[in-house]
Amino acid sequence: MPVSSLDAESPEDFSRLGSLAEEPNYLVTMRAKGGLTLYYRSDCRFLDSLSGQCRIHNSEQQPQECKDYLASKCWYTHSFASRINSLQIQLSPSRIAALRDASIFDDTNRLYRTPPWERSMEIMRELKGPGQPCPPTLTEMPSRFSGLENHLLMELPETITPKHRDLMKFRLGFPGIWVVGDGSRWAYALPLTKQKGSPALDGLLPRNSPDLRARMEKSRKNGTLLSFHYGNFESFPWDDPEPSPLPLIS
Ligand code: SF4
Repeated sequence: MPVSSLDAESPEDFSRLGSLAEEPNYLVTMRAKGGLTLYYRSDCRFLDSLSGQCRIHNSEQQPQECKDYLASKCWYTHSFASRINSLQIQLSPSRIAALRDASIFDDTNRLYRTPPWERSMEIMRELKGPGQPCPPTLTEMPSRFSGLENHLLMELPETITPKHRDLMKFRLGFPGIWVVGDGSRWAYALPLTKQKGSPALDGLLPRNSPDLRARMEKSRKNGTLLSFHYGNFESFPWDDPEPSPLPLIS
């Protein structure tokens, strides 16, 4: 599942990116049209593993995001056909280190330029790509959220519109993902298996502010942290519906 674009601006960010790429449940890619993307490697709970078909196809339960997706023009079919292709390169920690070494940073240590696409492909072909995704281990969510320290946080918009609500339904369909919050700020909590105490990794996600984790942590300590998963997300305190699109990365 596509999670987010990623912000990697400094050599230190690239090191953090390497740590994220070590996580078996995540995939980091570089797109030919520019930018880095984070994917969560898990099957949707409604995917029939034998037939490869959606078990809730065209039903009310199926997110509109899925209904609207044009399978005949599926970008993912082509970009995931191989680990390196003209659309996307899948990055392992060693490929991320090589990308950092081949990139140019300015005097303030900000990224100035990554290598041209053809050159990047050449470099990456020399290096081992990411391993196979680990098989999904979580089919049902535990009834309690286990804790913030082993989750990445990605903030939700201030106003949750019907579009966001549908996107939340889609994302929570992937086992392991929660929405947590203190009643006024909300974030997706994405599970990490290797990294503990992940604030440094939060900063790679664009919808993040330095105080988000502190705020959620304070709420957790007070016993007021609210958490939602697929089974109870309809009870989320929805905002006034005022449409404003927040498209999935495509
Ligand atoms: S992601 Fe959407 S289309 Fe795919 S299995 Fe899940 S609900 Fe069905």
